[in-house]
Amino acid sequence: MSELQINDEKCVLCRACISACPFGALEVVDKKLVVEDNCSLCGVCLNTCQFNALCIEKQENGLLDKNKWSDILVFVEHNEGKIQPVTYELIGKALKLIEGTSYKVYCLIVGYKITELAKELSYYNVEKNFIYDHKAFKNYREDIFCNVFQDCINVLMPAIVLIGGTDVGKSIAPAVATSFHSGLTADCTELILNEKLELVQIRPAFGGNVMAQIVTPNHRPQFATVRPSIMEEANRIKSPRNNIVNCKLDEKKLVSQIEVLKEKQMETKEGIQDAKILIVAGQGFKRKEDLWMVEELAMLLNGQVASSRALVEKGWMPYERQIGLSGKTVKPEAIITCGVSGSVQFMTGMKTSKTIIAINIDSDSPIFSIAHQSIAGDIYEILPKLIHQLKEIDKLANNKN
Ligand SMILES: Cc1cc2nc3c(=O)[nH]c(=O)nc-3n(C[C@H](O)[C@H](O)[C@H](O)COP(=O)(O)OP(=O)(O)OC[C@H]3O[C@@H](n4cnc5c(N)ncnc54)[C@H](O)[C@@H]3O)c2cc1C
Repeated sequence: MSELQINDEKCVLCRACISACPFGALEVVDKKLVVEDNCSLCGVCLNTCQFNALCIEKQENGLLDKNKWSDILVFVEHNEGKIQPVTYELIGKALKLIEGTSYKVYCLIVGYKITELAKELSYYNVEKNFIYDHKAFKNYREDIFCNVFQDCINVLMPAIVLIGGTDVGKSIAPAVATSFHSGLTADCTELILNEKLELVQIRPAFGGNVMAQIVTPNHRPQFATVRPSIMEEANRIKSPRNNIVNCKLDEKKLVSQIEVLKEKQMETKEGIQDAKILIVAGQGFKRKEDLWMVEELAMLLNGQVASSRALVEKGWMPYERQIGLSGKTVKPEAIITCGVSGSVQFMTGMKTSKTIIAINIDSDSPIFSIAHQSIAGDIYEILPKLIHQLKEIDKLANNKN
């Protein structure tokens, strides 16, 4: 563990470090500069001090009593009054991880006027939902959200903290992990609990060429952000649990260094990750011109076209349409893969799709191992027939109308 040290003899109380600290973690008390416990050791203050009065002292890791840390805390992300799907995915994963252990799953939800969201959360099988509801949390502000996290973690002492790999998650997770002097594994695609109850955090490394297995043996909590759309969502239970805990944060910790001047809704273009139905082309296509088949099928089924990386590399498909480890992660209602072999990198990006239909000429193709419907055959025969039949169905429906 490390900590920020102040040399009182050198400090002239010029307050330059106080203005510079992004976390508001420095203040003068009784004519002395003091460090608050939300110091994240970012080091910004060191560069502003002209008197060499500050230093970060590295200390050897003390003996951490891991037995004091147990359970899993899930950060609940919400936007415009809706809990984001990644939250349910994290709860689903956390509930699976604790099976056969004494661990419990807790949720942390921060925001303003979020009682309804907390009520919705009580339909998921977690032990308790900690709710921090205050006007100060109307907008996401890293410093005070970090204070909330610290408050909650200090009380709960969770062994594991799971956060969605979203824009907010990627901002808050490193700040909180640093403030606990612990590690963070970002963008995990799989999580396992080993026999020592350590979280094995699995994520692609070296451009996806290896799947790294990362553990945090010496520090607690173990922090991980998880790629959205990769894990299975938790099931909603029939009756809500009485598990909402209203929490309050010290007034001082509600003061943010960040002022929100204006809110602007980002324009979002619908992409393959939003599609309910996806028709995916793979290298089974011999010529670019033949891709009309997937385009027509997508049009008839009101879906979108996507592809494996092989066709992106050939320049036949734009990168925004690529599914997989180095492309987009998708979770549509139905996905039809046409001439895709099912490499690990491809399947990582789509294996949680609700219904997977695979067409491949090779009956031993790996994609069939995850397909709900496997069609062993030639796309050049099957797709034109399928398109013809769908058009016939359309015609019949139109005649009826
Ligand atoms: C670091 C790294 C990251 C990667 N990231 C991704 C990624 O994000 N997404 C991705 O897709 N790949 C990715 N890859 C590449 C991946 O390893 C595969 O090379 C790629 O997925 C193969 O694409 P494919 O299935 O279309 O082609 P192939 O593997 O060549 O498969 C073509 C399939 O078509 C079938 N076929 C052939 N003719 C017909 C026919 N007439 N009718 C029906 N079936 C037919 C064949 O049996 C075969 O199974 C990555 C690789 C690396 C090293």
